[in-house]
Amino acid sequence: MMSDNIFQKIIDRQIKANIVYEDDRCLAFHDIGPQAPVHVLIIPKKVIATHDAITEADRDLLGHLHLVAVKLAGQLGLHDGYRLVVNCRESAGQTVPHLHMHLLGGRPMRWPPG
Ligand code: 5GP
Repeated sequence: MMSDNIFQKIIDRQIKANIVYEDDRCLAFHDIGPQAPVHVLIIPKKVIATHDAITEADRDLLGHLHLVAVKLAGQLGLHDGYRLVVNCRESAGQTVPHLHMHLLGGRPMRWPPG
């Protein structure tokens, strides 16, 4: 069940995480396996399993996640830039069935990603 996913457990404080931001709509915390000096996950509290499950009703929520990303990037010192990643479904690398935005920065990044 989606409510059993690991990020829901972090929201519910059943599992510990290094939380850097929280409000009524979202939570942000450091990734347990960082791929860059700064690697934060920004997640909605609403359970949305995959990016392609978003609807018109989520429009404001998604904008909010982006604004939180901008705020955190500034607070975490990513003044030279950063990368936002949303992996949608397994073949794109999604491993946790709860929509999340990766905020990565603090090192040079190449393109295209692997
Ligand atoms: P995905 O591969 O689904 O796009 O990203 C999932 C991310 O969640 C991975 O980068 C992984 O390291 C991170 N992750 C998985 N389990 C945990 C956990 O229990 N705590 C934290 N902080 N991050 C986790």
